[in-house]
Amino acid sequence: MSKSDNWSFETRAILKGQSPDPSTGATIIPIYQTSTFTLDGIGKNKGYCYSRTGNPTRSAAAECLASLEDAKFGFIYPSGIAAINSALQLFKSGDHIVTCQDLYGGAHRLFTQILTPLGMEFTFADARYTDEIIKAIKPNTKLVWLETPSNPMMHLCDIEAVVTCVKEINARENRKIFVACDNTFASPYIQRPLNLGVDLVMHSCTKYLGGHSDLLLGALVTRDEQMAERLAYLQNATGSIAGPFDCWLLMRGMKTLAVRMKQHHANALEIARWLEKNPRVLKVNCPALESNPQYALYKKQMDLYNGMLSFEVDSDFDSVKAMVEKFEIFQLAESLGGVESLICHPPSMTHAAVPVERRLELGIKDTLIRLSIGIEDVKDLLVDLEQAFASLPSKVESLAN
Ligand SMILES: *Cc1c(COP(=O)(O)O)cnc(C)c1O
Repeated sequence: MSKSDNWSFETRAILKGQSPDPSTGATIIPIYQTSTFTLDGIGKNKGYCYSRTGNPTRSAAAECLASLEDAKFGFIYPSGIAAINSALQLFKSGDHIVTCQDLYGGAHRLFTQILTPLGMEFTFADARYTDEIIKAIKPNTKLVWLETPSNPMMHLCDIEAVVTCVKEINARENRKIFVACDNTFASPYIQRPLNLGVDLVMHSCTKYLGGHSDLLLGALVTRDEQMAERLAYLQNATGSIAGPFDCWLLMRGMKTLAVRMKQHHANALEIARWLEKNPRVLKVNCPALESNPQYALYKKQMDLYNGMLSFEVDSDFDSVKAMVEKFEIFQLAESLGGVESLICHPPSMTHAAVPVERRLELGIKDTLIRLSIGIEDVKDLLVDLEQAFASLPSKVESLAN
């Protein structure tokens, strides 16, 4: 325990793991762009020998993020998917993993197309219902992999309820099923799953942690020393490491995480309420709205909301596709979590590879639009939405066609 462990979130985000550089006094951690480190003598180093094994810029970013998640150990990977892949390497052929039905598409592909042929087994449950997750647990289940809020429907799963049930099974059957959580959509400012009993937290730092759509990184953090030792071993053995420049950008991003998340929350809530009142909107998916069936869980589990929501337009496929091209501030792009607002049409973009019947089962209709709401002035964002909605053919016109 060091003094800095008592600092509040905002202070740790700026300073944790980032004391001035001992050799020069540089206030900001330098980008240690070096592959190797010169030894003082055989077996005498300053904590680093080779950058695959460890690099000071990467260590600083990992220490800062671990602190923000109230973890003890952190690891930074070249992408979110690389972090998920490393987490799954803790398990082996024959192991069964229970996860969410509406899992991030890239994780779904990794699980079904890469890890299933290697002998791992996956069950995709409707994670809104804790019972569904618990029902899917089998004798060879070793991991429950959660993701909340989900994409693009913003469904939540009750992290604490899942952990409680899994711990009961572990105690009753004298076994160890781990629980992990992809915390990308919430960010540690809003939700800290380790405090709810989860064993491992994963991030795509590409999103809110980086916050500026200018890097690709992933992370794993844990309090479990044995797991951390294995993750360090795996990272060095498989070479799944992030470069120092990207880690430096991540540290810069994390310094403003708290102020950014407050603004994402405020802008998203105002836009969600505006959409809810719009006669051309059939449904708004945002658990921070009082009308959402998961509002109580949102209040229990998350300190604030993020900038993500989706909504169904009362129109048809072609008109909605035309509408998303009409935006002037919202940029038509995949990804999320940056300071700039993005708009996405999941059925023809992020979820185009999902078969149409499956999409409909998940509630991803052809008229669904997803927004990643940035931190611009919300007045400008509302004007942009208004002019894009004005481009929709009226219902009478579209009936006539
Ligand atoms: C983007 C994302 C990932 C994958 O991260 P990359 O950095 O793109 O590899 C994983 N999970 C969630 C929830 C994401 O949004």
